[in-house]
Amino acid sequence: MISLHPKPLPFHFFPKQPKPKTLTLRVQSLLQYNRKPQLAGDTPRVVVITSGKGGVGKTTTTANIGLSLARLGFSVVAIDADVGLRNLDLLLGLENRVNYTVVEVLNGDCRLDQALVRDKRWSNFELLCISKPRSKLPLGFGGKALIWLVDALKNREEGKPDFILIDCPAGIDAGFITAITPANEAVLVTTPDITSLRDADRVTGLLECDGIRDIKMIVNRVRTDMIKGEDMMSVLDVQEMLGLPLLGVIPDDPEVIRSTNRGYPLVLNKPPALAGLAFEQAAWRLVEQDSMKAVMMEEEPKKRGFFSFFGG
Ligand code: ADP
Ligand code: MG
Repeated sequence: MISLHPKPLPFHFFPKQPKPKTLTLRVQSLLQYNRKPQLAGDTPRVVVITSGKGGVGKTTTTANIGLSLARLGFSVVAIDADVGLRNLDLLLGLENRVNYTVVEVLNGDCRLDQALVRDKRWSNFELLCISKPRSKLPLGFGGKALIWLVDALKNREEGKPDFILIDCPAGIDAGFITAITPANEAVLVTTPDITSLRDADRVTGLLECDGIRDIKMIVNRVRTDMIKGEDMMSVLDVQEMLGLPLLGVIPDDPEVIRSTNRGYPLVLNKPPALAGLAFEQAAWRLVEQDSMKAVMMEEEPKKRGFFSFFGG
């Protein structure tokens, strides 16, 4: 039987091997995973998954968090708004089942429910693609069309979904603006490198200008060996630079690439891969509007420099 409750991650997952400081903390964290997460906020929660930089893991995050939410019992619609480089369907293994897209719905060629592709494993997860692969953003398709789409999903006969996840294209041009328009909250995916962080910082500013204040971040492709060798920024460094609450820390894990190629998101793997567990925990926190303060508390203090001995 598949457990609906993500297990706490092994301690070695966290950067610099943090351990709960007190017994109370340890007991609390065990109790937390012995219950179902409580959905916070009004539904549907419209969440855009964005980054600025391409290739940092937006689509991977959308697929894995989306299916984790479905496994937790919530109804989810994932919209692939990366029009030119659509690949969420591939990651989910649903590419052969996409017969219609939003473009056909808007043209009146099909109904909305015909464009929604139900996942074969979790029927409370549905995928919606904006257009056919390699096509350009349809003329006149913008934020208003996406708002219309979200409203149409809210008013479906079978009831509104709990979550609408929008997989955002890279960059900050028209596709990005369209994708963020209907969202009330954002998950910013970044990797711990300077180019990704700069783009993430720029995107944070744009999201805030658009009125999206609820922004949480996922730090993806973290390598503890490189952090220890001081070749990679720690999660704490990333948090200090971006100043955003943390939704999850995902290790760099070859299983992610394997699962991508198989069209089988790794949260469905049995036994679960480390990155899969990390995505499940991030989904849990998304449901409860919680952020991971633990990493801030657990990380070892930074090394003291030479001058600190002299009070510097
Ligand atoms: P984006 O949507 O931001 O362009 P993708 O989700 O398509 O990024 O990911 C880009 C590539 O990085 C994919 O090949 C994916 O398998 C890989 N990848 C993403 N996250 C991880 C991870 N945690 N560990 C290893 N590979 C990853
Ligand atoms: Mg993508």
